[in-house]
Amino acid sequence: MLTLTRQTRLYLPIEAADLTRPRADENRWWAWGRPRPWASYAQMETTVAGVADPVGGYLLDIRDMDQWLVAACAEVHALGVVPMATGVENGVDPWLGADQFLQAVAEVLERRYAEVARQRPSRSIYLHQLLWRLAPPATLLWQHPERSQRPSHTSTPACVPAVGHPALDPMTKEIDPVTSAESLPSASQANHQPPSLQLTLQYEFAAAHRLHCQQWSEEQNRDVFGKCNRASGHGHNYRLEVTVACPISSHVGRCESAAEGTEQIDRVTLINRIVNQQVLERLDHRFLNLDVAEFQQLNPTVENIAQVVYAWLCQSLPATLPLQSVRVYETDKTWATVQRVDRG
Ligand SMILES: [Zn+2]
Repeated sequence: MLTLTRQTRLYLPIEAADLTRPRADENRWWAWGRPRPWASYAQMETTVAGVADPVGGYLLDIRDMDQWLVAACAEVHALGVVPMATGVENGVDPWLGADQFLQAVAEVLERRYAEVARQRPSRSIYLHQLLWRLAPPATLLWQHPERSQRPSHTSTPACVPAVGHPALDPMTKEIDPVTSAESLPSASQANHQPPSLQLTLQYEFAAAHRLHCQQWSEEQNRDVFGKCNRASGHGHNYRLEVTVACPISSHVGRCESAAEGTEQIDRVTLINRIVNQQVLERLDHRFLNLDVAEFQQLNPTVENIAQVVYAWLCQSLPATLPLQSVRVYETDKTWATVQRVDRG
């Protein structure tokens, strides 16, 4: 499953000036939004699932994702149905209003993404989740009721307040620079499968790319890709997260060593070695369009980079360490995830 996540930084309530669509080369949401002293600063993360455009390589245009979220927030606020009381002195639980606001925004967005899905029927696009990062240790998460992997007890979307549970929050969780291991969260899965861990390792690489489709006119390329279409290319410091499942009892991996036959090494060393050989040596300090065979025909969007890295690692990791997901961050605000989906 391919997902694209876009973090949009905004101030609530939305002002009219925020509702116009930015030009292709305009950095409307370039850093932290336009500060407004008495407004509520918010970070919201929209995650959509689907198939990337086979030509352009985008799952969706992040400018549209920003715009649709801002418009949905404005629409819900204008309806006036959400209690905005802010403190217990009013006798109202402020989280009640936050739950209702997020759920209402998600419902507006779901209708928007359903419309997009109808316009692009081959792409299976849907709103997977919407996360509201209220403050560093507090997030609210809305997930699609049927498609989320979380056990769902109701037929309506569920808002999960995560106050005081920073472990639910990937931004505030302490992540060791080398490794973090998390137990699988699903109790229903635990009934059917032996206990296992997911191990996530984080890497970085710097690379340049140019987003451009030979099949499209210069004008269409500029319109779709904006500044990312400039002929000389531009660079990013990418972050890569590789997650594998590992049985608790398996602490040791094996690696084919040319000189000494099979070498016994720990699994982190093994994964590091494979990621270095298969991914970082191919991508780090490269111009992706020219230096990487896969991107000579394929547009090197973050969606396509994540899919190519997933394919490389699927082929390279041993069966004892099955790949669960690959996440590539192009910036702090935009990332794509390819997640293994077990069928049946
Ligand atoms: Zn770029």
